[in-house]
Amino acid sequence: LPLIALESDSTEDFFKRLDTYIHIAIEQLYERYQFQGRKKAATFKFLFTQGVWTNGESLNPEDTLEEIWKQGTLSLGFVGLAEALVALTGFHHGEQEDSYKLGLHIIHHMRKRTDEATIEKKLNYSLLATPAESLAGKAQREARRKFGTIKGVTDRPYFTNSFHIPVYYKISALEKINKEAPFHQLTNGGHITYLELNGDASKNHAAMEQIVRAMKEAGIGYGSINHPVDRCLSCGYKGIIDNCCPSCSAVGEKNFERIRRITGYLVGSLDKWNTAKRSEEKDRVKHL
Ligand SMILES: [Zn+2]
Repeated sequence: LPLIALESDSTEDFFKRLDTYIHIAIEQLYERYQFQGRKKAATFKFLFTQGVWTNGESLNPEDTLEEIWKQGTLSLGFVGLAEALVALTGFHHGEQEDSYKLGLHIIHHMRKRTDEATIEKKLNYSLLATPAESLAGKAQREARRKFGTIKGVTDRPYFTNSFHIPVYYKISALEKINKEAPFHQLTNGGHITYLELNGDASKNHAAMEQIVRAMKEAGIGYGSINHPVDRCLSCGYKGIIDNCCPSCSAVGEKNFERIRRITGYLVGSLDKWNTAKRSEEKDRVKHL
């Protein structure tokens, strides 16, 4: 979305360009579906002998697959609503009401288009709020190369996950929940809202319960609470460890395992992640 916003002269122009890209994506997904549909069941023996697709076992090896693939979905994903809104209006949807309304309007429009494609092509098109594991960094580099460094748009090494309020923006847990929930209704291909909590969550059950209930009331489809869990490898202590283990006084990073969550995966170390997602983790502020 930020690349499309940066190419556009106005909001009106943005929607025109967005429509062109949506059209390309819908047709590309359709072409891929047709290509895969011409394949035979024998090509994917595992899928059709292990109960992965309903009635897959009834296919003969020489049967083609266009009918059975209809159980699947064709998803259109997006990343960086926040940066796109800054490019269009100067503000992201966490910091200004008009920008928030425009954000909802954009995602509503995309969902309308995938719904129309579902009817037209009689296939399950859906809209997906994606974390874009590698695209979050790749698209940002492309945008910076083309348009230079623009504050709030291309000045960080990643684009913000789907419709999320930027991870670096200070906002209360309740406000984040209420702002992101309406986007869950629109993204029928999948979505998630994260909250970052400080400290040891196991010692604060009341806060956890309050957050889970607030998520349920707001209509969050999939909510997640992130909190740090550190483990001392010398003595096995589990909790928050700053520089020194509170139990055995061990010091040095090599003595500690730090569990964090990146795009849904729990990781013990951030080493294996690309720089875009590592920078995103570093920028995260806590939601109190
Ligand atoms: Zn220890």
